[in-house]
Amino acid sequence: MPSIPSHPYWLDVPAREGSKTLPKPGGICVIGSGLAGASAAYFLQQEGFDQISILDFEPEKAATFRNCGHILHGTVESMQALQSLHGAETARDIWNFSIEICDEVKKTVSDLDLRCDYQQNGYLVVAVDDHEVHEIHESIRLLRDAGFESEFVDIDKLTSLGFKNVTGGRYEPGSAQAHPVKFRNGLIQTCQDRGVRYHSGCEVISVEEAEGQVQVTLKDGNTIIFDAAVIATNAYSPLLSRFFSEHKLVEPFRGQILTTKPLKHDFPVRYPHSFDHGYEYALVTEDNRLMLGGWRNHTPGGELGTYDIAPNSLVEDGLKNFAKHHYKIDETLEWEYSWAGIMASSKTGFPFIGPTSSPLIYTVAGFTGHGFSWAHGSAKLLAKIMAGKPIPTVAKHFNPRLI
Ligand SMILES: Cc1cc2nc3c(=O)[nH]c(=O)nc-3n(C[C@H](O)[C@H](O)[C@H](O)COP(=O)(O)OP(=O)(O)OC[C@H]3O[C@@H](n4cnc5c(N)ncnc54)[C@H](O)[C@@H]3O)c2cc1C
Repeated sequence: MPSIPSHPYWLDVPAREGSKTLPKPGGICVIGSGLAGASAAYFLQQEGFDQISILDFEPEKAATFRNCGHILHGTVESMQALQSLHGAETARDIWNFSIEICDEVKKTVSDLDLRCDYQQNGYLVVAVDDHEVHEIHESIRLLRDAGFESEFVDIDKLTSLGFKNVTGGRYEPGSAQAHPVKFRNGLIQTCQDRGVRYHSGCEVISVEEAEGQVQVTLKDGNTIIFDAAVIATNAYSPLLSRFFSEHKLVEPFRGQILTTKPLKHDFPVRYPHSFDHGYEYALVTEDNRLMLGGWRNHTPGGELGTYDIAPNSLVEDGLKNFAKHHYKIDETLEWEYSWAGIMASSKTGFPFIGPTSSPLIYTVAGFTGHGFSWAHGSAKLLAKIMAGKPIPTVAKHFNPRLI
């Protein structure tokens, strides 16, 4: 049994919820109110669509409120892994796009004057063995060759920064962090202020095109007719979309995080950092708590294939030991928050952005551990696609119809 009651630190700021009334028919229905759904509604409005309804179900369970607040350049793969999987040109295009979408988060924060603790202090990737440090050196070389900023951090520097049992690191200055609930709440509030209707408590069980319209069926038996729909339900998409379930586009997996009580002394690295190929990730919160997540790769099955958000005690213990082994913190860590959330492992390794098998049913889903920036930036791309605007060539990698 996990020893700490499950509650996400971020949800001390409650997630804004929609009205419990039945949605009105017509216009565009955005299913999902997490980072992807809220961002889709925001950018669709910017593109001139004026009749938008957001529907969600049990929004507080969304990964959006359960992540680590990192807003990172790149993808979950290192540059070395990206290049060996997709070739140098595609890897460079993807990396470039990832920077643009991080910039998009920054722009939205600034445009809307969102009070979401946004800070752009960079990101530190820490290696825990010799194999990983070799990969870090190689990634730095490839990143620099492709024109991106990245610098090596040696063991002495890492030791002075408060780490131990580490072998080297890579720092990049452009990445950022923010409070995910405040960011998403701000987006939703802006959308509502501008006329978007937001309905919670709508458990969608199917989205189908019928006679040139979209039928959205709820578990309570109601069916609502819209002109178009956007599936922004990430890992949950196969539960309501035949397109997702038949093509096995995403598989759910559980990520887990622990957070301490406020530390008595400041930890030097207050910006996002990760270890062991990103399998563990951390930051220090505004109120000086260590937030540490990951460790799922040490469990049987890797936490794949589940929608259960109850934390796993094996992971909890693993994270506590990990903190003792890798942080030089001269005080007993008292863990106060523990929680889990469900992300999507995508069939292609990339999100799906664009029309599904129906030209009226679109999606923006398939986000793993870099979903903060990817969900926001992907939603902007989707809005351009739906508005018939020119899109960058990199979009071909995300086309749901090309699977
Ligand atoms: C532990 C953990 C740590 C993470 N750390 C980071 C990080 O530091 N940085 C980062 O970039 N990413 C991180 N992520 C990933 C990131 O949080 C997600 O990729 C991102 O939040 C996905 O957003 P989303 O809106 O697509 O999906 P979600 O946030 O999962 O939202 C899904 C939406 O679908 C709705 N929904 C689901 N089913 C139904 C239904 N049947 N009917 C109607 N609505 C439904 C829900 O109400 C919700 O609104 C982490 C995730 C986890 C779990």
